[in-house]
Amino acid sequence: MDVYRCMNHPEAPAIGQCRRCGKPICNDCYNLDNGCCRYRCGEIGYAPHTPHRPKSAFWSVIVSLLAILGGLAVLLLAICGAMLFSY
Ligand SMILES: [Zn+2]
Ligand SMILES: [Zn+2]
Repeated sequence: MDVYRCMNHPEAPAIGQCRRCGKPICNDCYNLDNGCCRYRCGEIGYAPHTPHRPKSAFWSVIVSLLAILGGLAVLLLAICGAMLFSY
């Protein structure tokens, strides 16, 4: 059976592959933060802790849409209720 070896440490078995370059890497070289090899891809412009601005902007849009829909639903219910009571 073929055992993958770390690209940096030929004596160490690889525990996984780099998410960026796909090379087998051992426990020492595996960067748990971003799933990349620590010495080659870990530092290259890959920011695992990016600010959550896009997500929060997305959610604020969703929340405002839901608020608008909720307001419309309440308005509709009020109109329906008024129509029911007017008969
Ligand atoms: Zn890599
Ligand atoms: Zn290694």
